[in-house]
Amino acid sequence: MGRFDTERKEMIEELKNKGITDANVLDALAKVERHLFVDPMFVNKAYEDSALPIASEQTISQPYTVAFMTQALQLKKDMKVLEIGTGSGYQATILATMGCRVFTIERHLSLLNNARKMFDKLNLRVAAKGGDGTIGWKEHAPYDGIIVTAGSPTIPEPLMHQLAEGGRIVIPIGTKEFQSLAIGIKIKDKLEVKEVEGFKFVPLIGKNAWS
Ligand code: SAM
Repeated sequence: MGRFDTERKEMIEELKNKGITDANVLDALAKVERHLFVDPMFVNKAYEDSALPIASEQTISQPYTVAFMTQALQLKKDMKVLEIGTGSGYQATILATMGCRVFTIERHLSLLNNARKMFDKLNLRVAAKGGDGTIGWKEHAPYDGIIVTAGSPTIPEPLMHQLAEGGRIVIPIGTKEFQSLAIGIKIKDKLEVKEVEGFKFVPLIGKNAWS
C-alpha cells in the first residue's frame, strides 16, 4: 500500500456520495496521487475535499470541482482537450490519465515549469505552454473539450471558435467573487449553455477576461 491510499479511497467514496458517477473520472481520481501536487505544507490535507493554496497566490481546485467539471465534458479516450489554467498540473494529469490528448496553458511561468516537471516525471501525454489562455491555442484546434479552471466575466470568443462541432466547454462565469459553471455544447456552430450555481475560482486574467 502506498502513502495516502486509504485517504484517496475515502475521497472517491465522498465524491460518489456527492453525485459523481462517471467511472472513467472516478478511476482517474483514484489513480492520481493528489498529494504530489499540493504544497508540502498541506500534504496532510491533500485528500480533503477542499481547494488548497499553491505558489503564485493560486489554488489547486477542490477534488469535487475537478470531478464535476471533468464529468461535464463527457470525455472518451484519445479526445483532444484544452485546459486554461494549468496551476499545479493536477487537472491536466487527471485528463491525461483518462487517455485524453491534453493541451494546457498557464500564465504564471513558475507554475508552468513545476507542472511540466511533473508531467515528465509521470510520463504523461500533456503539451503545456506559457501565456494568455483566453486566446486559446489555435494551432491544435479544434478541441473535443475545453476546460477553464479560473473564473471569467464571459466565455472568451476564441475558445468558442476553437471548440469542435459537438464539443463541450466548461468554464466558471460570473463576478470576481462568485461564479456559476457554464457547461456548453457546440451545435451547428452555436453554443447551447446551461449553468450550475455555487462555485468560486481565482480570476481568469487576460485579453478576453479580467484585466
Ligand atoms: N487546474 C489547476 C490545477 O489542477 O491545479 C488549478 C488552477 S487555478 C484554480 C487557476 C489557474 O489559472 C492559475 O494557476 C492561474 O494562474 C491561471 N490563469 C489565470 N488566468 C489565466 C490565463 N489567462 N491564461 C492561463 N492561465 C491563467
